[in-house]
Amino acid sequence: MIAADGYILLFSRRIPYNKNMKRKTYRTNWKLLLPLAAILLLLLVLLLVMVRTVISMRTAKAVPTPEPTPEPTPAPTRVDLYAYYDFAETQQIPVYDHREDKLVLMDFEAYIIGVVGAEMPVAYHPEALKAQAVAARTYAFRKILRGGCASHPGAACCTNSKCCQAYISDARMEERWGDAAGMNYNTIAEAVMATRGQVLCYQGEIADAMFHACSGGQTENSENVYANAVPYLRGVDSPYEEPMRTQTVAVGFSDAVEKINAQYPDAHVTKDNIQTAVEIQSVYPSGRVKTVRLGDIEIVGKKLRTVFDLQSAMYTMETTESGFVFHVKGYGHGVGMSQNGANGMAQHGYTYDQILKHYYTGVTIEDDLNRMGNTPAPTPAV
Ligand SMILES: [Zn+2]
Repeated sequence: MIAADGYILLFSRRIPYNKNMKRKTYRTNWKLLLPLAAILLLLLVLLLVMVRTVISMRTAKAVPTPEPTPEPTPAPTRVDLYAYYDFAETQQIPVYDHREDKLVLMDFEAYIIGVVGAEMPVAYHPEALKAQAVAARTYAFRKILRGGCASHPGAACCTNSKCCQAYISDARMEERWGDAAGMNYNTIAEAVMATRGQVLCYQGEIADAMFHACSGGQTENSENVYANAVPYLRGVDSPYEEPMRTQTVAVGFSDAVEKINAQYPDAHVTKDNIQTAVEIQSVYPSGRVKTVRLGDIEIVGKKLRTVFDLQSAMYTMETTESGFVFHVKGYGHGVGMSQNGANGMAQHGYTYDQILKHYYTGVTIEDDLNRMGNTPAPTPAV
């Protein structure tokens, strides 16, 4: 870059063209000057850019930063509710088999198939079977969420209908149905898998999906049968109880004395006063007996069911020369869905969700269980 005489070689010496020209002249060395100028220009631009960036950064810092938007509070997760024997992960539940007297780990939906098979006649309409599947699943799921079967520690549910829900195993299906077992299983499995994961909710809570065999034409307000008034367990018309399930129970006087004294000795009923000792005192608008006088005491109408093995609390009584005759309509407690009525509605074109919403006032059908992943369809029994 630097020549021997100290001149920067941006300019090359111009050769004097005659002797008079002593003065050193130079010509511009454009080949070197231009790239150098270009580099200088580039550096200048870079400097400007840097200055600008620094200024803008300082300006940005000077502007007060807005408060960070708080993370939206996550909706209360329901996963906790599913924490039962890793149910969320495995979708298996420990079921206490009261016949075998042991705990069995079952696929949840396969268990529901066994419940529907035991709780509803398989000949019922497919839409009624679906409604039953949702009710049975809801009932079981609610039980799980509340810590499982109260009578059998460690069990989510048990197979005893007096405690949880009835259940029929594959082996007992074969015993009961013989050659039709496979076909019946598939019919039930279809209803269960078509509604897989669906449960009844009321205002976001799992509903208490009570059901009974036959309402007698009118279901009952929950508080008239049990302690609590449940907003979705209201008495409703059940117009398609076809055929209506009825029962006639005749009890001789001496038999009646014995049966009443076995349960209510303080009623002081004897063979001398029995003819006037039993009296229906009040009846609910549904037709179910509210109170009965038994000798010296008064009991609620449904309690007479256990004394005389009546199928429901919807009964009338006549006194004959030899005893009492009870005319009973319906079968079961009368709260929630009537299975017989559900079948009737299905035969009249109602779908399972319409049936459920009819019997459970104001409920929604949610598929919460599906959020946890899919359960493989259980393999047919036969
Ligand atoms: Zn139980």
